[in-house]
Amino acid sequence: MDFHLSPELTALQLKVRQFVTDELVPLEVETELAEGRLLPDVRARLIRRVKELGLNAMALPREVGGQGFSWVAQTVVSEEIGQATNALGWIVLDPAIVLAAATPEQVEKYVRPACAGTRQDCYAITEENAGSDASVMATTAVRDGDDWILNGEKWHVTFGDTADFAVVQAATDPKVGDGNTLFIVELNWPGVKVLAKPHYMHHLIAGHLHYGFRSVRVPHANILSGVGQGLALSKEWFRRERVMIAARCVGAAQRLIDEASAFAQNRVQFGQPISEYQAIQFMLADSLTEVWAARLMTYAVAQAADEAKTDEDRKRVHVKASMAKLYASEMAGRVADRAVQIFGGRGYMREYAAERYYRELRVERIWEGTSEIQRIIIAYSLYKRGVHAHLD
Ligand SMILES: Cc1cc2nc3c(=O)[nH]c(=O)nc-3n(C[C@H](O)[C@H](O)[C@H](O)COP(=O)(O)OP(=O)(O)OC[C@H]3O[C@@H](n4cnc5c(N)ncnc54)[C@H](O)[C@@H]3O)c2cc1C
Repeated sequence: MDFHLSPELTALQLKVRQFVTDELVPLEVETELAEGRLLPDVRARLIRRVKELGLNAMALPREVGGQGFSWVAQTVVSEEIGQATNALGWIVLDPAIVLAAATPEQVEKYVRPACAGTRQDCYAITEENAGSDASVMATTAVRDGDDWILNGEKWHVTFGDTADFAVVQAATDPKVGDGNTLFIVELNWPGVKVLAKPHYMHHLIAGHLHYGFRSVRVPHANILSGVGQGLALSKEWFRRERVMIAARCVGAAQRLIDEASAFAQNRVQFGQPISEYQAIQFMLADSLTEVWAARLMTYAVAQAADEAKTDEDRKRVHVKASMAKLYASEMAGRVADRAVQIFGGRGYMREYAAERYYRELRVERIWEGTSEIQRIIIAYSLYKRGVHAHLD
């Protein structure tokens, strides 16, 4: 196995790194203190830059307005954008990959504008009583002539505050396909309501809103892929998001280790830099070792995804994505905890990246499938395929 980046990917890495360092990191503290709100002109300027740099819609194919990056290239970008707090890196506009299943009409109306940043999507699966088990939707859609009538509520809808359309998963006829269907729903249609704007532990540039859908009339033409394809499509989304979460966690851990190491070498207590004390060295050494392991896993699964040809290949990628997400998110949590400890009292101040990451990285173990759900996926695959199938 060879995980060296090609010259093209190294150039991409440097380009994104420079954008993150020069244009995103300087905005962190003001974004944190504004509870994640970006001024409209700052958001517009950054989106312009993202388009100039050719980073918008990295996952979607070129035919629909995206960049058509390989999984490894997407991992490179995600690793770099993970190095800014407050999810400032999400400014890279990354419409949901399920939009690749759009019809030509949907492409023109929703996907191309989302890739260009003139429209924005969000993804609404989770409900009050459907979290880890996303197959028990209380949200329903019932056919009525050329339309469907959508009823239900969705929780924690990320980008629900800035998006203008949502991909909504709803229960349809259980006898057709997997019994779930994805609908493209415009958020200004009659019957769509914001039910709550809850406050969360972190302050990201995206809010997480609760939405209600009361007899919302959705044209049949707004179904993604087909009736009864909802769970299968959402699974594709989870697979891709889990790899990108792992990559962002790897990036975050690198920033934390760099900052903690630099601080330790400058901070003098008891007459010498604290970096000379073994207690500090062990925390840094464990962190560096773990981020290397997580990084290898993440690039390995991205490469496997690029090479996957059969359904069985994709199932194996699914399991490896769970392993990478599980390990990288838990690793990043440990690294953030150690970084706070190394910074001492400063590590508890919101002005320091260690404090912000300590809060922000916690959700990586929860969304797109909790650590417990990843372990269940991994264990069942072990029972089915045996240990060797997971080590290549
Ligand atoms: C900030 C944030 C943003 C989010 N953004 C989105 C979004 O944009 N769109 C969206 O649809 N959703 C979103 N989510 C929802 C997220 O995906 C869910 O919170 C997550 O899948 C867990 O579901 P839950 O919160 O209902 O927890 P539950 O499923 O109720 O789980 C509670 C606990 O029980 C454990 N558990 C559950 N089942 C098992 C089991 N079989 N074995 C062992 N343990 C189990 C879980 O691991 C967890 O520890 C977001 C959540 C957050 C916090």
